[in-house]
Amino acid sequence: MNRVFQGVLSILGLSILGMFCVLTVNPALSEGRVDGVSEEMQATAIRLRDTVLKSDLSYRLDEQLTTEVGPRLVGTPGDRKGVEWAVAKMKELGFDRVWTEEVTHVMWERGEIEAEIIAPYPQKLVAIALGGSVGTPEAGLKAEIVHFPSYAALQAAAPGSLEGKIAFISYRMERRIDGSGYGPAVVARTKGASEAARKGALALLIRSIGTDDNRLGHTGSVKYDADAGKIPAAALSNPDADILMAQLSRGKPVVVRLRQTSERHDQTVIKTANVIGEVTGRETPEDFVVLGAHLDSWDVGTGAVDDGIGVGITLAAARHILDLPERPKRSIRVVLFAAEEVGLVGAKQYLERHRDELDHHVIGAEWDFGVGRIYDMRPGVGPEALNTIRAMAGILAPLGVSLNPDNTAKGQSDLSVLGEAGMPAVNFSPDGSLYFDYHHTENDTLDKVDREAMKINTAIYTVFAYIAAESGVDFRK
Ligand code: ZN
Ligand code: ZN
Repeated sequence: MNRVFQGVLSILGLSILGMFCVLTVNPALSEGRVDGVSEEMQATAIRLRDTVLKSDLSYRLDEQLTTEVGPRLVGTPGDRKGVEWAVAKMKELGFDRVWTEEVTHVMWERGEIEAEIIAPYPQKLVAIALGGSVGTPEAGLKAEIVHFPSYAALQAAAPGSLEGKIAFISYRMERRIDGSGYGPAVVARTKGASEAARKGALALLIRSIGTDDNRLGHTGSVKYDADAGKIPAAALSNPDADILMAQLSRGKPVVVRLRQTSERHDQTVIKTANVIGEVTGRETPEDFVVLGAHLDSWDVGTGAVDDGIGVGITLAAARHILDLPERPKRSIRVVLFAAEEVGLVGAKQYLERHRDELDHHVIGAEWDFGVGRIYDMRPGVGPEALNTIRAMAGILAPLGVSLNPDNTAKGQSDLSVLGEAGMPAVNFSPDGSLYFDYHHTENDTLDKVDREAMKINTAIYTVFAYIAAESGVDFRK
């Protein structure tokens, strides 16, 4: 734009872009110049948004990851292949710097599982071992079921009341657009085994933490407390939990046989890696915007949804920014975290390694949820940076994203570790209604990925990363 002409218009309190926007009622530009966000930057962001909307790159990356690598359980050959794939892919995509940082964890093997009702009405049950669970004795175990409608009910059981029994928690997760049904349900999976062990139980069965009616169990990590014995823990598919409930409703003792050969190898340290790629900023390369996703997955399914989508979106967003005529002022760092599924292990080790330079992590956003379109963005920034967030939101509004007035976001999934440590964040919330139908099951495969939603969501992450990197705004203030 001609500077003199622009200057004249500025004197008149207008700008060319401003005028244009009055005519087209573009919400992005109608506010004109915003702190740290020039009109030129806004115009570039809009062009970028519209270019990315036409690109299938993020989906294609997910397709490649899930076809060429497949499942990526930490410590398995798939995990190692995933790391190699990500390094090669970042280089191929033209990242300015690519490196790995070692992450260590311990080995766990799923083994096999057999579950069946022995009495009163014998039937096989479909179950899956929870991640990190110990196994049963080689011959399996047979015990009467004691039913609890919730984790809280199990907590209320008298000490010793489950001696020689199998505890069963039947709480069913509610389907909600924001995934908020997960929190109240998942406590049975994470804490149920230790709580049941404290009451004397031999094993824990839970209803799968999932919203589907498929005859597939949902895995996911169990956490054993140091003060409780480790007992085997498994999840029944939703229909199988119903079968067990129906038998319990007859008022007769229900006896289940469980045989599970899963094994913890707590002394066997395995090495994996966070894979990091950077788009180097042209003015302050030491400061960077973080885009996060996790590279590992469970061994069931191919991890196309959890978190192949996040891998595709973050890599593609960086690639689209690399396509601009010049690099943004700050760097953009894509971190594909290792060992998320087993307790945010890669993120915690990343924080330890980078704690001294946390101030250089200017803001971050992770993708690790949902298959639908983003409808909400919630910032967690200093009040002075809210104008920049509003400018971003204006550009994203035509994509159906509304700005959440609650300015308390602390990062999602892996990035919550950095968010809790002080890194500003934006949490983007997609429609998560279907997510927990597939989550941690054999059904987490590419056909569940919404290709059109992925284009839109990638455009959103690209605009976020570009503006955050180009604006130079201090999001902490
Ligand atoms: Zn995940
Ligand atoms: Zn997961």
